[in-house]
Amino acid sequence: MLIYSTTLCAPPLYYFTALQHHYLMTGIKTVFIDIDNTLWHFTRNSDIALEETFHIFHCERWCHDYEYFHRRYELHNLRMWQLYNQGLVAKAVLMVKRFELALRDCGHNSDSMHLANDMNTTYLERLVMHHELVPGAVELLKYLHEQGYQVNALSNGFKGVQDKKLQAGGMNRYITHMILSEDCGITKPRLGIYRYAQQVTGCTPSTTVMIGDDPSTDIAGALAAGWRTIYLNLTGTPCSTAHHTVTHLLEIKQLL
Ligand SMILES: [Mg+2]
Repeated sequence: MLIYSTTLCAPPLYYFTALQHHYLMTGIKTVFIDIDNTLWHFTRNSDIALEETFHIFHCERWCHDYEYFHRRYELHNLRMWQLYNQGLVAKAVLMVKRFELALRDCGHNSDSMHLANDMNTTYLERLVMHHELVPGAVELLKYLHEQGYQVNALSNGFKGVQDKKLQAGGMNRYITHMILSEDCGITKPRLGIYRYAQQVTGCTPSTTVMIGDDPSTDIAGALAAGWRTIYLNLTGTPCSTAHHTVTHLLEIKQLL
């Protein structure tokens, strides 16, 4: 009987890591990828569009500090999206309320809902005029496409906006299906949208991987659906449940 010394005979760590990566991603045929802050740099593009909207509507008349409006908008927007992702508020309510509540916080108190509705329309128009992408987005999609994976987008974002985002850099050339929560009436991370995505694309859980930047929607939902997961960590927020974490999109070329 041979007894190996773990100190002398254990393969180096990179060997285990390479094997583990290969094992975890073996058999993958279908890739789903989130859009906002995974491919399309929502945060940067939104910041620009929001400030433009603020000035177009001359909001400085009652709010002298744009940064204060910005912080209040982000707070209300986050809360409304959390409710929307749980299916507790409608899209139309989310879109107007985030502006209306921020306006009220800044002292605007006459017909804020009407102004909020107009500001939301302008904001969405301005939003898709900006095209900053997450570094490596186009190169990764091209690589996955050339490797023979079916690449699909899976997003809670709004119809009519998400398709324009994917036009940036020609990303839509590499996307076979764009699955939106509005198409099935169910948002990530609820299981129904992942099952809907499977129906549309014909994929099976064991051969499917989800790539996304949000642990609570992209990763949690995909894990519950039995898919494998790659978490894109651009903010320093860890996600221990994902099969893999990367800090740059092009690291995914080592996994797939
Ligand atoms: Mg995202």
